[in-house]
Amino acid sequence: MKAIVLEGIGEVDLLVEREVETPKPGPGEVLLKVAGCGICYRDVLARKGFMRPKTPVIPGHEVSGYIVEVGEGVNTLKKGDLAASLIYSFDARDPECGEGRENICRSTRWLGEDMDGCYAEYIKLPYWILKKIGDPGEALPEAYSFAACIVGTAVRALKTLGGARKGEYALVTGASGGVGIHAVQVAKSLGLKVIGVTRSEEKARFIEKYGVDHVIVYKDKFSEEARRLTDGKGPDIILEVVGGPTLDQSLRSVARGGRIMVIGNVDPKPQQVLLGLVILREVKIQGVLNSTPKELEEAIDILRRGEVKPVYKPISLEVGEVREAHKTLERGGSTGRIVIKP
Ligand SMILES: [Zn+2]
Repeated sequence: MKAIVLEGIGEVDLLVEREVETPKPGPGEVLLKVAGCGICYRDVLARKGFMRPKTPVIPGHEVSGYIVEVGEGVNTLKKGDLAASLIYSFDARDPECGEGRENICRSTRWLGEDMDGCYAEYIKLPYWILKKIGDPGEALPEAYSFAACIVGTAVRALKTLGGARKGEYALVTGASGGVGIHAVQVAKSLGLKVIGVTRSEEKARFIEKYGVDHVIVYKDKFSEEARRLTDGKGPDIILEVVGGPTLDQSLRSVARGGRIMVIGNVDPKPQQVLLGLVILREVKIQGVLNSTPKELEEAIDILRRGEVKPVYKPISLEVGEVREAHKTLERGGSTGRIVIKP
């Protein structure tokens, strides 16, 4: 089969096109014909060595596709099923991986880093990390590639861990990017009032199309505007999609007793946090590591019902296009997700 392989840690030229053997599913595994493979900022960080991927490796962890082969002992899925995957595997027998914490148990192995990912025509996966989609409803099969990593993560951040309540104000940083543009829609679907934050007027016009209540365009600071839009109170919950570069402004924006849910970070360097503000306003800063099987299921339902409109640009499984996609993400220039359709 055709695959894009990451041959070492470094620049985009280490992503190369190769003809590799199509994997064979063993017991408990299935072979998926890739319908969509999302390109994530995590892939960029992995290529630069931050996730310590084994190399050579086929990158890519956001995948949906059709089951074409089923290994021994797989009863929940059959040939022809359309399914979406978690972005990691875990040892289903490990008691540490109990329901709701599969993502943080020690046996997790990440697709595209610890095991081969989806920058390929086919991918072999353990059946228990897949959810059957059934009728794809309002979204196309390839859009389910980012059900887990984007929609599921937003569900986990807002609902499971953030306890968001109808009518609360949510603020989303990096609102035009692959994660942000879906996160604002998940927030709206939960009945929140949503403020999207971005750096350009052009991106603001784009975000406005997805039902946000306000968009803030900023150069250095957005906290004053965030407070003004919420009658001086500040947003109740902040989805910190960008991470380091916006965290200080998020902290200066958030309401007393508010929550900052950190779901992404484009800058792996240590960051300064004004602890005085964390204490005086009793702010909760919570990390969110992707999604669990339960949130993936919920994400699939949300996409099927059309409550979140998938926003993505399809590209082909061609090394030039994949390298270009990595560069676009690094520049912060992507509006919506970029999805490989092999
Ligand atoms: Zn991802």
